[in-house]
Amino acid sequence: MGSDKEREREIAESRAASESTRRVKVPALEEILYSPLAVLDQGFVRVVDYMGDDGAVVQAARVSYGRGTRKVSEDKGLIHYLMRHRHSTPFEMCEIKFHVKLPIFVARQWIRHRTANVNEYSARYSILDNEFYIPGPAQLAAQSASNRQGRGDVLEGEEAARVLGMMKADSQRQYDHYADMLNENEGGDAVDAGKRGLARELARMSLTLNFYTQWYWKIDLHNLMHFLSLRADPHAQYEIRVYADAMLEVMKRWVPLCHEAFVQHRLHAVTLSAGAIAVVKRLLGGEAVTQATSGLGKREWIELQAALELKG
Ligand SMILES: Cc1cc2nc3c(=O)[nH]c(=O)nc-3n(C[C@H](O)[C@H](O)[C@H](O)COP(=O)(O)OP(=O)(O)OC[C@H]3O[C@@H](n4cnc5c(N)ncnc54)[C@H](O)[C@@H]3O)c2cc1C
Repeated sequence: MGSDKEREREIAESRAASESTRRVKVPALEEILYSPLAVLDQGFVRVVDYMGDDGAVVQAARVSYGRGTRKVSEDKGLIHYLMRHRHSTPFEMCEIKFHVKLPIFVARQWIRHRTANVNEYSARYSILDNEFYIPGPAQLAAQSASNRQGRGDVLEGEEAARVLGMMKADSQRQYDHYADMLNENEGGDAVDAGKRGLARELARMSLTLNFYTQWYWKIDLHNLMHFLSLRADPHAQYEIRVYADAMLEVMKRWVPLCHEAFVQHRLHAVTLSAGAIAVVKRLLGGEAVTQATSGLGKREWIELQAALELKG
């Protein structure tokens, strides 16, 4: 996939180059353009290109509203209004392109987001690097007893050490077999001239899901926010969430007004059903409502209690 040194050289070259343009530039994003933001033990996310800024969203919205140039405070109000009312097309006017290095099991979750343009590193064409993800001690958790899709307490002591040892040994063994089956070194030469080596598209089958892959991922701001609302969320698996968290920081640099409105009206907002709103009205009226009298199902009642920080 190109050595780290090669990539560092390419990044330094890209960052050293500068072109004048009449297009909109966002200084805070320019500061980190091309630079990898470290995620997990060997992954990263870096911005390689972008189009538009907060102003592009406002400009597009004003076409539909037929309004002239306004002040920043009015831009902010307009962006919050668009976000609140799910008037989404102005947000599609901004685009961003990321280069991401991520474990294959994270890529499997990520690729479910179908509205991006993706180009992945080809393990049919090139040899995968000997790079695999091993969770840090704080992430090495047991299966959650209450949530079938989640984690419980962190494993400790001998059990943690044993699990980590197995993960590392399995991954390394699989990579050794992969390299052996390919019979090819990084330069593309045969390791053993007497062997033909298995095709790369077949040898890769034996690798474990924690091996790193890479892709370019381009998306518009509206769909990026949809991705972030699902993946920068406590319900998302930690290993994809940390990528979403890094991208949320990128978004803050790129489109600060949209970021603020997104956090306010989407990421940290809660949708209440008609039944839940009726319960809130009763609570505000001083009535002691229980799950039995709420008319809500148990799960929704628990979620409402959590959202309103009500004591059970
Ligand atoms: C916490 C969590 C747990 C999950 N668990 C599972 C699981 O157990 N099993 C599993 O299979 N998946 C699981 N998923 C994946 C989930 O079901 C979605 O596939 C994923 O979040 C992508 O969402 P999306 O389709 O809205 O996104 P995108 O693909 O980005 O689509 C955005 C929106 O565009 C529209 N759209 C895009 N393409 C189409 C299309 N072809 N047809 C119709 N509408 C389209 C839809 O309105 C969609 O909401 C999980 C996701 C999360 C966040």
